[in-house]
Amino acid sequence: MTTTFYAPPSAFRGRRVVLPDDEARHAATVLRKEAGDEIVVVDGEGGWHRVQLDHVRSEQVVGTPVETRRGVGEMDVDLTLGVGLLKHRNRFETLVEKSVELGVRCLQPLRTARTEKEGLRAERIQNLLVAALKQSGRTVLPSVPAPRPLDAAVPDADADVRLICHEQVDAGGALLSVLREAFDAAPRPASVHVLVGPEGGFTDAEVRAAADAGFTPVSLGPRRLRAETAGITAAAAVALCAGADGTA
Ligand code: SAH
Repeated sequence: MTTTFYAPPSAFRGRRVVLPDDEARHAATVLRKEAGDEIVVVDGEGGWHRVQLDHVRSEQVVGTPVETRRGVGEMDVDLTLGVGLLKHRNRFETLVEKSVELGVRCLQPLRTARTEKEGLRAERIQNLLVAALKQSGRTVLPSVPAPRPLDAAVPDADADVRLICHEQVDAGGALLSVLREAFDAAPRPASVHVLVGPEGGFTDAEVRAAADAGFTPVSLGPRRLRAETAGITAAAAVALCAGADGTA
């Protein structure tokens, strides 16, 4: 299998691509690539490039794209996952990695009534995003924006399908049946926004406010899932309902 590297669009200059320093070091010193070898470079904005290497030194690796495709590995549904900030950093990091694999475009950390932790380690998250992007065969680098308050994120959401995961659901229904119904309808939804609470869950008032703003409360089954499991489950359900429609 050809190794995949990441280089942002700014690394494509003229007809050439210059790998970022850490990617260059990896190509030259760890994988011992040589001039003439072919690699795959994804640019994080939907571009997949087969690149022939022109010269390889540990401090600089330059190549020429010989074939470019768009949207490889991407779903045709724009999926946003809003998740309450988690107390356990490693659990949030697991969610970052799995979200990338499952096709999430935006993982929005949320401040809610029951979140405790403030802030995230941006550089570590960026590294996780890039590693998962390359590993999973995607071409769009998902975003993890700065945390926002739930009551600001909810009214701004304009996705075709909006869902809030909650353990006690009276209105709404099971996630899978709500999604199936949405994807069977015409026109097919182009965007989905799913909310998942922090460890302590959403308050009833938060669920009511989201429902008033157009989010359907949905259940993920009779067991109480940890927040990151709930996020992964919801993303997997959307990915499977939407179909893995990569254009590769
Ligand atoms: N309130 C719970 C735990 C919350 S679990 C308590 O402490 O008792 C964290 C989040 O995961 C919830 O806010 C919800 O969004 C989601 N979640 C977990 N299990 C779920 C289920 N069975 N159905 C729907 N959402 C669930």
